Amino acid sequence: MQNLQPRPVWAHFAALCAIPHPSYHEAALREHLIAWARARGIAAVVDGVGNLILKKPGSPGCESLPGVILQGHLDMVCQANSGTRHDFERDAIKAVVRDGWVVAEGTTLGADNGIGVALALAALEEPGLVHPPLEVLLTVNEESGMDGARGLAPGTLQGKMLVNLDTEEWGHFYLGCAGGVDVEVRHDCIREQVPPDYALLRFEVSGLRGGHSGIDIHLVRGNAIKLLAEALRDLSAHTDVRLIGMKGGTARNAIPREAYAVCALPEAIASSIDEWVRHRHEAWRQRYAEEDANVSFACRHDDELPGRAILRAEQEHLLAFLDTTASGVERISEDFPGVTDTSANLGVCALEQGAFQATFKVRSLHDARADVLADKLVARAAGYGLQAWKDGAYRGGRRTRPPACSRCASGPTRSNSAGPPACR
Ligand SMILES: [Zn+2]
Repeated sequence: MQNLQPRPVWAHFAALCAIPHPSYHEAALREHLIAWARARGIAAVVDGVGNLILKKPGSPGCESLPGVILQGHLDMVCQANSGTRHDFERDAIKAVVRDGWVVAEGTTLGADNGIGVALALAALEEPGLVHPPLEVLLTVNEESGMDGARGLAPGTLQGKMLVNLDTEEWGHFYLGCAGGVDVEVRHDCIREQVPPDYALLRFEVSGLRGGHSGIDIHLVRGNAIKLLAEALRDLSAHTDVRLIGMKGGTARNAIPREAYAVCALPEAIASSIDEWVRHRHEAWRQRYAEEDANVSFACRHDDELPGRAILRAEQEHLLAFLDTTASGVERISEDFPGVTDTSANLGVCALEQGAFQATFKVRSLHDARADVLADKLVARAAGYGLQAWKDGAYRGGRRTRPPACSRCASGPTRSNSAGPPACR
């Protein structure tokens, strides 16, 4: 690693590899950085929760410019390959260069966020760099709860602009991030015995690509829960299908890839259901030919007795709610063309022994829009006789407009085309 360029960045990264720094155990690294900073006349402050803040005045002539904050985190994700013995609180990370990449032997490397920290430190010591007042904010325990970021007291920093050095895509600049809120839906269904001579069936939607609801929602991929609800609602309109249980999705912020429902159907209909399943499978394959060509719909016949199902009236309400409540992009940004502004994701859903629950993740670049959409989802659920509420709201942060032009210091003119802002 000693020969890699730029040298100061990699020297810092090597020092980070040598000092263990898992979450909750950042003190040794923090002490090392404080000593490093003080030896160079750079002010070092530790705040009430353990974040380290390094401050350097602006270079000559730039002292009164608005300050810039370079932000990263001290801790790293610790994982060792099976068969590797490594104590992350004591042992150094063994970084090597292999096939043009810096990698670790048998463990995580800690490039998240070691390389961000190394870049910030290198900027602080770069001789001849013309810069405004700089503050380097290195938070603790980012990887398991963001304690440092959450505990950062207002007024700790003076900078007006913050550069996040903890991102994943090289060459991309993030202008902000969406805020979000969850919508929780619950209902305790009344159950009744399924009539005799009904057969037990399990319907399964699978093969979907899914994705992250904050990154992939605009790709209009199939949502397994919604497809399952659509199919069951169709079946319910033509037969006396009885819903016993269902489950779909794994997380509120993931687009569900799989969902299944356990149902009872009159035996005569159950024995000829495969044709309907095939037909629906084919219809979905055509509908999702581009986004989700591997979508699958299957039915498994079960020998067990059906037991109890939820009341038909409640079944109608649940399925109608899941089928007709929009999940996906609600609005595209007018400021940043092609960027999702507001979206909802029906991420998880379960019906077990009569207890129904579903969770939507709502996101928006505008907190007020997330709030309005969440309120509408709550109202919709109430309209179907379901209990619903908002939970876990967090605010977004964004620029309302592209930054001002640095050459003429004017604000940007408004343009609807993607591209750099033009001078007035
Ligand atoms: Zn990180």
